[in-house]
Amino acid sequence: MEYKGKKRFVRMFVTFKPLCDGFLAGCRPYLAIDSTHLTGKYRGQLAIACAVDGHNWLYPVAYAIIDSETTESWDWFMEKLHQAIGCPPGLAICSDAGKGIDSAIEEVYKYAEHRECMRHLVVNFKKKIHGKVFDDHMWPAAYSWTPEAFEAHMAAIHEKKPKAIEYLTRYHSRLWSRSKFSTSSKVDYVTNNLAECFNNWINKHKGMMLFQLVDKIRRNILVKMEKRRRIAKKLEGHRILPSVMKELNAKSRGLDIEYERIDHMKAEVSEGGEDGKRHVVDLDMRTCTCREFQVSGKPCKHAISFITGIRGVTIEDFVDDYYSVAKFAAAYTPVMPGLTDASQWPKKTHEFFLHP
Ligand SMILES: [Zn+2]
Repeated sequence: MEYKGKKRFVRMFVTFKPLCDGFLAGCRPYLAIDSTHLTGKYRGQLAIACAVDGHNWLYPVAYAIIDSETTESWDWFMEKLHQAIGCPPGLAICSDAGKGIDSAIEEVYKYAEHRECMRHLVVNFKKKIHGKVFDDHMWPAAYSWTPEAFEAHMAAIHEKKPKAIEYLTRYHSRLWSRSKFSTSSKVDYVTNNLAECFNNWINKHKGMMLFQLVDKIRRNILVKMEKRRRIAKKLEGHRILPSVMKELNAKSRGLDIEYERIDHMKAEVSEGGEDGKRHVVDLDMRTCTCREFQVSGKPCKHAISFITGIRGVTIEDFVDDYYSVAKFAAAYTPVMPGLTDASQWPKKTHEFFLHP
């Protein structure tokens, strides 16, 4: 870009085909988009798009240096991202609201589900509206799996602070409650700390020269991919990741839940006796009316109690493929290219000097 008669660096987008391929082959269709300030001699922002693997480990897909968080920069970033990965079916994108990012996601990823991180929402919310009612109802509303539970919390907020509902409708129209999440991405995060995780990866490098920073991030990714490829190799022989099964097996212990079978794979499941909550589990469809099963891709406690009562099936049979060792391995199968140090890179062919 020309500025005050000098050609200047403005922005740069980085991704690698192995990352894009690994994301599409092995990760759930979910991306968190965020940015962080650079702290070195040259100011600007590091923008990132990251996914999660079956272990819920951070999987960086792309990163960029942008001058500032403008609509123009975000439009450009989202367009480049779209060129790299397209729009995988069922994609959900989570971002912090505002700062040009919202409209960019809307523009480029019209058909994706647009979510908002609850932690950011609460920070904004607390600037405008105060009181205990939000801790009592806002967080529970976000964690509600069903529309009924969500509506009950919203009604309680409405009764105590009608202004809060007005504010939410006006400024936070993105999805932030599990009750509104679609069932395609199998990511049930209400808050996401992926951007923070990424920040921790690179925090001590943020003062580097940009080309060094970009290369440092690439090397970090390369190292992580190799390490996780080895982990995948060790897990061969399991269908579902052992850590996921451990979590579900722990959940299956001490459940006080009864069920009445409707059909071979369907049951009415009750907790807390006759007057308690009752849900309907359909194992063929992998659904429960509590919605946790289909939103998370892992059997809820209702499904677990039914499954453990059926002969010849295991909890593992009903866990979504996204948590399989095969998918985890697929994310890390592509190998990142090695790269020499800067002194061996191709010499510039343009005639001008690029100013910071
Ligand atoms: Zn359930």
